[in-house]
Amino acid sequence: MTKRAYNFYAGPATLPLLALKKAQNEILDFKGSGMSLMEISHRSKQYAKVHSEASTLVKELMGLPNDYKVLWLQGGASTQFYMVPLNLQKKGKPMEYVNTGAWSKKAIKECKFYGDVNVVASSEDDTFSYIPKDIKFSDDAAFAHITGNNTIYGTEYHKWPDVPSTVPLTCDMSSNIMDKVIDTKKFGVIYAGAQKNIGPAGVTLVIVREDLLDRVPDNTPTMQKWKTHSEKDSLFNTGPCWAIYMCKLCLEYLKELGGVSAIEKINRDKAKILYDVIDKSDGFYKGHAKLDSRSLMNITFNLQTPELEAQCVTEGLAKGLVGLKGHRSIGGMRASIYNAMPIEGVQALVDFMKEFQENNQ
Ligand SMILES: *Cc1c(COP(=O)(O)O)cnc(C)c1O
Repeated sequence: MTKRAYNFYAGPATLPLLALKKAQNEILDFKGSGMSLMEISHRSKQYAKVHSEASTLVKELMGLPNDYKVLWLQGGASTQFYMVPLNLQKKGKPMEYVNTGAWSKKAIKECKFYGDVNVVASSEDDTFSYIPKDIKFSDDAAFAHITGNNTIYGTEYHKWPDVPSTVPLTCDMSSNIMDKVIDTKKFGVIYAGAQKNIGPAGVTLVIVREDLLDRVPDNTPTMQKWKTHSEKDSLFNTGPCWAIYMCKLCLEYLKELGGVSAIEKINRDKAKILYDVIDKSDGFYKGHAKLDSRSLMNITFNLQTPELEAQCVTEGLAKGLVGLKGHRSIGGMRASIYNAMPIEGVQALVDFMKEFQENNQ
């Protein structure tokens, strides 16, 4: 058995061991075909089954109503930053965003290529340490956009903002898709780069309510329309077959665990263990996010000095705890504990943190 590190990287991130093993077993000979799935046509019956199972798993696990389409696209969540306004714009209507961090800002920047953007709420005044309350979108907005979980700052929405019934709510769920049960009907569009919570890098999951597919202007290049991909079930061109296959294996594993409600419970337990150590450290560890905005997925914290933080990262690494350095833009430390991080990994981290505190305070 190869030694597995506990991997706290923010993304690409740890994957379920059983999904990796399944892939390992099938890598040379996919289900008796004598070929690797990587070598098989994206139009073959073998791949078609994988493709449709992956989409079905998303629908099942998220409880998607029938009028939602599941798309597997490329270009990362960053490409959706422009595809959202491109596909949802409405002449003369403002596009409204909440700014909760670096990823929101990038989304806002891209939207500005398409027209006026209203930033209706922001937490920039306090280093994005919270999710704004009382968010109000206007009735005539073309769409509303939020970032479900702020990977860099470690904050997450625990209650979705209300939107006027005519305004589709759009959410970047790259780092919290399927971390908890949500009412998907509240959303018009959900998108997520796969590499944090549901699979490897190389594919982006986009979920779109059917009625929104027709808004896109006619003079839009074919590949940039969600409608193109929806009509061809994400097989308009050669998609990232292997990445979609890996997502399927990860989602299958999630389903076997008991689905999103089961993982939500585990995620809450994992986050609590970690936040408890921070809260009971007498200020040795200082959490970045405000209590009511704390992320279940990315736990961000600081020590007294950058030197001590660097020492903590290095000593953690020596114990097989990888990827604890905070994002370069805010420093400090970050433990990303996505769905695939086992509770044993979090336990190993808190044991180390307690010991590190004893030795260094
Ligand atoms: C990582 C991340 C992105 C960027 O995703 P790419 O797939 O690399 O484009 C966007 N939004 C959020 C919230 C992220 O965490």
